[in-house]
Amino acid sequence: MSRQLTGIAGSPGAVAGPAVIIASSSDIRDLHKTVTLDDVELAITTVGSELDRLAHTATGEAADILSAQAMMVRDPALAASMRATCQGGESAPAAFSQAINEFRSALAALGGYLGERAADLDDLERRVLATASGAQLDALPKTEQPHVLVARDLAPADTVGLDPGNVLAIITEQGGRTSHTSVVARGLGIPAVVGCPGALEIAPDSLVLVDGDEGTVVVDPTPQQLRSLPAIRSEATVPSERCATKDGERVELLANVSGSAEAERAAALGAEGVGLLRTELLYLHRQVAPTLEEQEREYLAVFEVFPTGKVVVRTLDAGADKPLPFLAHDAPEANPALGIRGWRLDVLGPKLFDDQLAAIAAASAKVNTRVAVMAPMVATAEEAAAFASRARAAGIEAAGSMVEVPAAALRAGQLLEHCDFLCIGTNDLSQYAFAADRGLAALSGLLDPWQPALLDLIRLTAAAGEAAGKLVSVCGEAASDPLMALVLVGLGVRSLSMSSGSLASVHEAIGRHDLEQCRDLAALAVGARSAEAGRAVVKAKAHWSGK
Ligand code: PEP
Ligand code: MG
Repeated sequence: MSRQLTGIAGSPGAVAGPAVIIASSSDIRDLHKTVTLDDVELAITTVGSELDRLAHTATGEAADILSAQAMMVRDPALAASMRATCQGGESAPAAFSQAINEFRSALAALGGYLGERAADLDDLERRVLATASGAQLDALPKTEQPHVLVARDLAPADTVGLDPGNVLAIITEQGGRTSHTSVVARGLGIPAVVGCPGALEIAPDSLVLVDGDEGTVVVDPTPQQLRSLPAIRSEATVPSERCATKDGERVELLANVSGSAEAERAAALGAEGVGLLRTELLYLHRQVAPTLEEQEREYLAVFEVFPTGKVVVRTLDAGADKPLPFLAHDAPEANPALGIRGWRLDVLGPKLFDDQLAAIAAASAKVNTRVAVMAPMVATAEEAAAFASRARAAGIEAAGSMVEVPAAALRAGQLLEHCDFLCIGTNDLSQYAFAADRGLAALSGLLDPWQPALLDLIRLTAAAGEAAGKLVSVCGEAASDPLMALVLVGLGVRSLSMSSGSLASVHEAIGRHDLEQCRDLAALAVGARSAEAGRAVVKAKAHWSGK
């Protein structure tokens, strides 16, 4: 029988396909209580044979470790301990995990080489439970079949590596509209429903219908429901004329991208350029820092997509939910979102950003693209000044700051004394203004870009830009919402950068209103008592009713 799950619309589009579940050991223990003792025993045999096979194909220490793992998983004491716990009433997956835990403690107590092997038991646990339950535990599934990826959440490193030709859609239990799963899915054009409770209970291989516009998932849809599948929206290209209000006020429309492939998609969809190149997403898998030459090549590939346009490169926004393995801190942070991330990483030494700025400058010297740079996580005018002077010393003329921290919005005028432009990142600005983790589905109401307090911060920043005669843009996901785009224009924002799938609708909505109407809509949204009230009143008054 079909059943519906409701989550948050993370990335638009509707599609149906077989579910592939990516689960952790604890997900499987909690959710697959129906896995029997026989299933786990069979899985132990299967995993043992698989490890033998892998050991034969490997060499050196890797082969030794795999053979040792094969022996461990077949150890009769492990199975005996599991059976005994099961007889006490535990589920088979929980009993297996408990037996593994006992082994782990015993090995760890031995110390030395054997103690180090304790960590291999984690891998054994994952392999056996995954095999027993039919879920996939790899970071990304190996299947070549087009599928819908279901997970508790995906690390940005996993999401960035997804192949849109293979991954039809994404469903996650956690995450919100501005979490990186949604952001990257939109960039890749993969429909996504995030913050979707019950997603991990979807049985592997069941057919799921994902509607990323509505935020709904139908498991085992009826033929009738499948027929009503909204046609996958063909991505309309932006009309050839530049975006402007009805009375001719120009609004620059740019795209948020994470590399040259996304830049090409953005150009095909009519972006005038790139308003946010998320450079850290190029390096999420790197164990060692990219060389200057590698960086130059990658930036140049993006610039070349817009030979006469503009590209704003954001320097590495590493840390918090986007850790870069080659930038590991010595001391773990209790609150990484409030820690050393973004521009603050400069405390590790000037080389990181000086190298990056040098690579951007070198790539920029080879093209006519108008290249600008900006720093993420700037909180004070001093930080903005430090970044701008380092960028100029590297030979980059246009240097700006992101406004993602409320302190920066409140002092935008002082930041603008040092930088050429400001770019508001509404995703983090919401997170920090409302003290609400942007990845937490339960807090999506606080993270709603229609929150009047967030609009106040945007209004202050835009007003500072108007006073200084400098550009203020918005590159957070708020800019992807056509109704919100009208409000942003009304507040004084003249440059919007978004996932490329939204360019056409934002262009159309702006073209149907004159500046005065945008200002009236902005006043209504700012004056509203709640996000819902603001959205409702703007929706009722705007001359645009599309998605
Ligand atoms: C933002 O915070 O709004 C932003 C655009 O940056 P990111 O989403 O990459 O953190
Ligand atoms: Mg940000």
